[in-house]
Amino acid sequence: MLTIGAPTAANLVFIISRQHPPEVTGTIALQAFVERLCAKESLACQYRKAFATVVVPMMNPDGVLQGHWRHNNNGVDLNRDWRLFAQPETRQVRDAFLKAAAVPGARPFLFLDFHATHRNLFYTQADRHETFPKEFTRRWLAGLRGRFPEYKFRRQGSHNPRGGTSKSWAHEQFGIPAITYEVGDRTRRELIDRFATGAAEGAMKLLLSALAGGADAEADSSPRGGSTCP
Ligand SMILES: [Zn+2]
Repeated sequence: MLTIGAPTAANLVFIISRQHPPEVTGTIALQAFVERLCAKESLACQYRKAFATVVVPMMNPDGVLQGHWRHNNNGVDLNRDWRLFAQPETRQVRDAFLKAAAVPGARPFLFLDFHATHRNLFYTQADRHETFPKEFTRRWLAGLRGRFPEYKFRRQGSHNPRGGTSKSWAHEQFGIPAITYEVGDRTRRELIDRFATGAAEGAMKLLLSALAGGADAEADSSPRGGSTCP
């Protein structure tokens, strides 16, 4: 687990990946996304001053080592264990996130879980499900669709608190947008990187805007100010 940004920042973003061992393209997207959060330029600097991003890039190292398809060392699909928490991996990550969120003044804003499947896809809450920040998912994905028409993706909005998935847990627990970011197994690497970089930019703008009280972030497409970073 790594924490990016001001350790004293009370505003939190949680990112995980690789609950499922072979879903490599999801982790490739996570790398590009996280690298963009770490960039030495104005938008990312502003973001890192305001937000702490807690990243667990490899949820299931035993499963990866053993070449499992879905399961961890105990033969359990971790992304069905976020209700029972019978597995050490899910328990530890849950506890780390709850600990970060329990710091006085802390406020979670966003949860992302990177996976891979046959196509590019986002599993989200439906727009009718309330989240804070409001309408983050709709605005984020609409912005990305406009900016990257060559990256075809679907969105599937639902909420099933009994499903045991990480996204349902994070949404139930924190009331935030909690999104499974699925990357196609055969999506071109260059496009995965470019889109994930744009996804990080869009997310940072919307999160900073939510912090400032919800001014229209989509209209403000270019980072302002100098390029110096802390
Ligand atoms: Zn998966």
